[in-house]
Amino acid sequence: MSFSNEQTEELKVKLLEEKKRILSHLKTAKKNSSFGENIDDTDDETEETEEFANYLGVERVEEDAIHDIDVALEKMKEGLYGACEQCGNQISYELLSIEPESALCKECKLAEK
Ligand SMILES: [Zn+2]
Repeated sequence: MSFSNEQTEELKVKLLEEKKRILSHLKTAKKNSSFGENIDDTDDETEETEEFANYLGVERVEEDAIHDIDVALEKMKEGLYGACEQCGNQISYELLSIEPESALCKECKLAEK
């Protein structure tokens, strides 16, 4: 890992902040949803199922994001953070400062699209 301690620390803070933001959003989404409250009210069932499906979609995206962040934090602990999973090259600090959970370097990201 060729980043300075300051840079790594900065990226770690970003990762932790992002995780916190997503977690609190997930929590709010769960709190605002009324799923399970109208169990006896069968009239709403269809509508509620649809709503629930949408809700699960958002939740899955956010849980994926949390997973990526956790993987990045784990790599940081092991000193593997910042290496591209595809080609093994160093991911630029520029890219990581925008997307700290990124597991691919710019070239591999572009090649993927
Ligand atoms: Zn790469």
